[in-house]
Amino acid sequence: MIYCVEDERNIRELLVYTLTSTGFSAKGLENGEQLFRELTRELPELILLDIMLPGEDGYTILEKLKQMPSARDIPVIMVTAKSAEFDKVKGLDGGADDYITKPFGMMEFISRVKAVLRRRAPQTEDRDLVQGSLRVCVDRHEVTENGRKVELTLKEFELLRYLMENKGIVLTRDQLLTRIWGYDFDGETRTVDVHIRTLRQKLGDAGSFIETVRGVGYRMGDEE
Ligand code: CA
Repeated sequence: MIYCVEDERNIRELLVYTLTSTGFSAKGLENGEQLFRELTRELPELILLDIMLPGEDGYTILEKLKQMPSARDIPVIMVTAKSAEFDKVKGLDGGADDYITKPFGMMEFISRVKAVLRRRAPQTEDRDLVQGSLRVCVDRHEVTENGRKVELTLKEFELLRYLMENKGIVLTRDQLLTRIWGYDFDGETRTVDVHIRTLRQKLGDAGSFIETVRGVGYRMGDEE
């Protein structure tokens, strides 16, 4: 999903049309207020942001986006009307990913969009979870400890992955049971303990990263 924030209806519709006819899904938004409302519903892969907008201008919106933990990694392409604006945006610390000066050709526009998404792609694909000597490669379903490959069962892998994704947070046995074994699993919380025990053994030195929180559950320690 790509959000196009642009108050001029013709341009907004043209942007959305061009993107959708190229195979992207896109949504046109008229101002910052609409954008921030949409962000609470769905985070887009990219935001196209006009500068001259009613209400908050594009500079202010960009700064706000970069302060939002949920939105700060979303790439932003600023759409500027004149080169004076372009210079101002360039000088911002806020860090837009690219700038397009109006008027622009649609072919150029699409290739800029693709370039920004391509640049961002490795970060979202490379989903390795790392804790000290321990590395979980989510895409390849592979775990290494100090470079040594650790063979885990599917449940052990899912358990470790979930703990790593929630580093520093205590997860109860019930939470783990529901998450890894499913709602209709008819087992006992002891199942979790058994799996944690074998997981720790297999992980060797890194096994100590999994902490037992007495009476509650388990936590992946956030210190190395
Ligand atoms: Ca405008």
